[in-house]
Amino acid sequence: MKKLFLPVALALLAVGSAGAWGFFGHRLITQVAVYRLPGSLQGFYFRHMAELVRQSTAPDERRNTDPDEAGRHFIDMDHYSEDNPFGKVPQDYAAAVEKFSADTLKKYGTVPWVIAEYTEKLTNAFRERDTVDIIKYSAELGHYVSDAYVPLHTTINYDGQLTNQAGLHSLWESALPEKYIAEYNITYEPASYVKDPLAEAWGTVQRSYGFLTETFDRAGKVERAMPGPERYTFSHLYGKTQRRYSDAFAAEYEKLVGGMVANRLKLAPTAVASLWLTAWQNGGKPDLNQLMTPNRLSKDEKARLETELAAAKKNTLAQDHLLLAQRAEKRVENPDEIKAAQETPAVQAEDVPETADAPDPGATPAAAPAAAAKTAAPVKIKTKSKGPSGSTKTKTTSTSIPW
Ligand SMILES: [Zn+2]
Repeated sequence: MKKLFLPVALALLAVGSAGAWGFFGHRLITQVAVYRLPGSLQGFYFRHMAELVRQSTAPDERRNTDPDEAGRHFIDMDHYSEDNPFGKVPQDYAAAVEKFSADTLKKYGTVPWVIAEYTEKLTNAFRERDTVDIIKYSAELGHYVSDAYVPLHTTINYDGQLTNQAGLHSLWESALPEKYIAEYNITYEPASYVKDPLAEAWGTVQRSYGFLTETFDRAGKVERAMPGPERYTFSHLYGKTQRRYSDAFAAEYEKLVGGMVANRLKLAPTAVASLWLTAWQNGGKPDLNQLMTPNRLSKDEKARLETELAAAKKNTLAQDHLLLAQRAEKRVENPDEIKAAQETPAVQAEDVPETADAPDPGATPAAAPAAAAKTAAPVKIKTKSKGPSGSTKTKTTSTSIPW
């Protein structure tokens, strides 16, 4: 059956690239991370939540303009070895450069080192009490951490393109979360201090890598059970045709991998919040109330936070339409007042346990190449669905496919 589709497939525009959670996923993870913070950070993060959520997609948005950006979002472990690559790639950046060269690391991705690098940048922002940078690096650190939670960010077959499953990437990380978020249980533990962010990042990548076989095999299972014409939707954009997996395919795939997607979405916000907390502690625990104007949450803000925390606990954020990610392309309603660095004393907070050992953030990696990455802006497209009951045409706004 696959053979029948080969000529069509060859004519298609190549859309694959090493990607990221869709904008939806990044925004969701960033928002939920705020709910997992301890009280000493939560007020500040909640005050700036809309801005954090907005900036959480910035690393994807700059991929078109910054040639060094693309490789920061992934690491193709199977390039190094299909058999135990984690035993072959040194966790330390300098040692990895020594073994494989900086160019090779750039080409096949640097996400674990980028996570350590951004944890350090955020730590410095806290040290300097620079609100603009605290928000910027919190959002961007959260982005890279979230990327490391996507199994397809750990393989050279990042879009299923090597197994005739092109399109798997956006299906897994964009289509499924956007469509099924209300069905996922994403409640999880609060943030905790991370002793070694680099080691933690490597652990995340390794666990993501462990999901790869099932990611591909389960798609294959659906393919074998579903007649070819039902599997794909063809979009026509700028005179070119793009193939995506159909809603029918997504529905079947969801049954087999939804638990996996939910698992990564559930864990990522705690990992993000934990590194925010870690950077804050390592940065001298500045009193974040002093960085806010006014320096406390208002009655209204408190009430909203309580409502949202209760919904997060009950796992009803999506059903209650409290997710900023559900508000399509909506800009920040009330831009937060953000202050630059100022001199305020560091204050020890009582509700966060002091932990020993500052983490080793690892070396700063060289950036990676643009590779095949492209950022797709949201655009109006015509979608033609081919199904067993004939063709139907619908006009739709494509979701952004941030890579
Ligand atoms: Zn990304």
